[in-house]
Amino acid sequence: MTDLTNKRFGRLTVMKQDGYHVFPSGKRKIKWLCQCDCGNKISVIASDLNNSHTRSCGCLRRETTKALKLSHNKCQTRIYSIWQGMKNRCYNKEQYNYQYYGGKHITICREWLDSFEIFYQWAINNGYNTNMTLDRINVNGEYSPHNCRWVTTKKQALNRTDNRRIEYNGKSQSLKEWSDETGIAYSCLIYRLNAGWNIADALTIPSRKHTSMEITQ
Ligand SMILES: [Zn+2]
Repeated sequence: MTDLTNKRFGRLTVMKQDGYHVFPSGKRKIKWLCQCDCGNKISVIASDLNNSHTRSCGCLRRETTKALKLSHNKCQTRIYSIWQGMKNRCYNKEQYNYQYYGGKHITICREWLDSFEIFYQWAINNGYNTNMTLDRINVNGEYSPHNCRWVTTKKQALNRTDNRRIEYNGKSQSLKEWSDETGIAYSCLIYRLNAGWNIADALTIPSRKHTSMEITQ
């Protein structure tokens, strides 16, 4: 028998021998009392220490599970609000940008409309990441797996932007030119694209200032 006293296995430091573990077959194995870095104590047989099966009192697994769950929840929350936003744009007439979506007969495929779970699965399986936004490939097409993709919001590129060309509706021009054409302030366009708006929204939704001017006229 190898003396394991004072050896370290993951978070565990072996303190001393601690009786035997008796298997159903009647076979016995020495247990070792270990001190975990978190303060708990646990008795483990040598083979479970040697093959890394046991590396803590259980705190390691609890922490990993918690971290995974948290990142899953966070991700689910963001995807959920993207899903909600999409439904509002297309079906809620009260929504500020409805006129550019539902108002233009942009719809959502049945599966996505009925089930967040299905939309969520599609997102995860198709390259979703927290720095990405939902983009329709054909801007006049519906929200569906065939017409959607995740695109990165190109923050860095936009920050040195004067010559970045933005393509929309078959036309490619600089942000400055888009600003002149749409009447939406250049700084507002930069802000929107950095905030993760898709290009169609950024270029078509009037800025608040613009809207109130229209109302007062
Ligand atoms: Zn522990």
